[in-house]
Amino acid sequence: MCGWIRERGDEPFAIGEVGLPYYTRKEAEERGEPFDLGPYRRQLERFVTLAAELDRPIALHSVYEDADETIELLERYRVRRAHFHWFKGSPESVARMVDNGYFISVTPDVEYEKEIRELATVYPLDRLMVETDGPWPFEGSFAGKETEPGMVRAVIREIAALRGLREDQVDAVVRRNTELLYRWDLLQP
Ligand SMILES: [Zn+2]
Repeated sequence: MCGWIRERGDEPFAIGEVGLPYYTRKEAEERGEPFDLGPYRRQLERFVTLAAELDRPIALHSVYEDADETIELLERYRVRRAHFHWFKGSPESVARMVDNGYFISVTPDVEYEKEIRELATVYPLDRLMVETDGPWPFEGSFAGKETEPGMVRAVIREIAALRGLREDQVDAVVRRNTELLYRWDLLQP
């Protein structure tokens, strides 16, 4: 599987975004329909083994209870360079992710979502990144605006305010984190 990924050789690529379909599963369950997670689990395991084999970072869509299952996979295959994008989950999952040194990224909803604001305040700063996940429509001061990459500036500003840091401090750390995870080739002497 994934010969075309292996052919990338030494390029600084990542595996992803891959993960488990939390919202699709919940919607099916709400309609009273059966939902077989099996094929999704097997597919995710293939990508995790590929990340381990090629020693590449992996970007994950895996929230709430799905996160625990994903963390177990990452631990089993000893994948350490993991990025949980737009993460939401239990304090237990968060503690395990911090222990394992996984990265998370925060979106513009840090402006108004309580659980995201808490996460952006307590998650280790050296494991935080920012994103928009555009074209997702955000609320708060972003309501009615087309999502565009420049909105990460507002995310940085909000994280800085929450943590009592200067915006340029957060900016520098987040930039460094992103390079550490995704552009490690630029940091090598
Ligand atoms: Zn996603």
